[in-house]
Amino acid sequence: MTDLYCVFGNPIAHSKSPFIHAAFARETGESVIYEARLAPVDGFAEAVRAFVAAGGRGANVTVPFKEEAFRMCAALTPRAKRAGAVNTLSFVDGQCCGDNTDGAGLVADIVDNLGFSPAGRRILLLGAGGAARGVVEPLLATRPATLVIANRSSDKAQLLVDIFADLGPVRASTFADLAGNTFDLVINATSASLSGAALPLPSDLFAPASLAYDMMYGKGETPFLAQARMQGAGRCADGLGMLVGQAAEAFFVWRGVRPATAPVLAELRAALGG
Ligand code: NDP
Repeated sequence: MTDLYCVFGNPIAHSKSPFIHAAFARETGESVIYEARLAPVDGFAEAVRAFVAAGGRGANVTVPFKEEAFRMCAALTPRAKRAGAVNTLSFVDGQCCGDNTDGAGLVADIVDNLGFSPAGRRILLLGAGGAARGVVEPLLATRPATLVIANRSSDKAQLLVDIFADLGPVRASTFADLAGNTFDLVINATSASLSGAALPLPSDLFAPASLAYDMMYGKGETPFLAQARMQGAGRCADGLGMLVGQAAEAFFVWRGVRPATAPVLAELRAALGG
């Protein structure tokens, strides 16, 4: 029997998730149909109920519904609870179970695809919104020497530190207070690249062999990655691998089978033209 999955968002036409999950299904031989579904901004819960009634087995959730999905779940995984957001729903006996695979997807991309080992390294996370919150726990699980969270509004960075402080060495900073510190891994989880804005970063931020990672993807070189390249980062990467990684983790949650991500990432990059 073919099982039905989807991704809910608004807008959703741009979503690469159907492409990725179709590739995973081919690769693993799992019998899966995966669709993109537009949910009305004020009608997410109703759209989910209709999908479950039509036999849906699970769903991904993207902007702007991740927090609403979190609130509507009867059960949550520990990582979804800490993230305060859900990107993966499983429907079990009519109940909605929520998970968050974004952070696992990021770490898998950095470690497996980019070959960077975060253990014992200095990590800087820029931003303190939903995407940043979703990756703090898996980043701390890699046992870095330190994780600094810097945000334009510093109270939000401190809020994240308060949530995760028991898990490892994490502290908050303003952008200005970063001066004089260097990092081995700098992750841009702000949405500044969406508007083409550069971040007010000090010029000595990147250690010589550092990795600069922008969660944004599909827009060519972002202002953050251009800054990183010019300021001497060893390597730059966009967030396309994180997108594929979170999808692979969701596929594993639903099917119990872990697809290889590298071929799908290469296929997707080729389809996007680079
Ligand atoms: P949110 O709206 O929740 O958070 C936005 C963050 O960006 C806040 O920390 C905000 O700071 C900061 N910010 C926005 N504009 C600026 C600016 N001009 N200068 C400095 N800081 C700024 O967004 P999300 O966390 O949901 O998404 C962030 C990014 O991550 C997006 O680009 C999104 O596309 C990407 N993403 C990628 C994924 C992937 O799979 N690759 C998955 C999820 C997200 P403040 O608090 O001060 O307002």
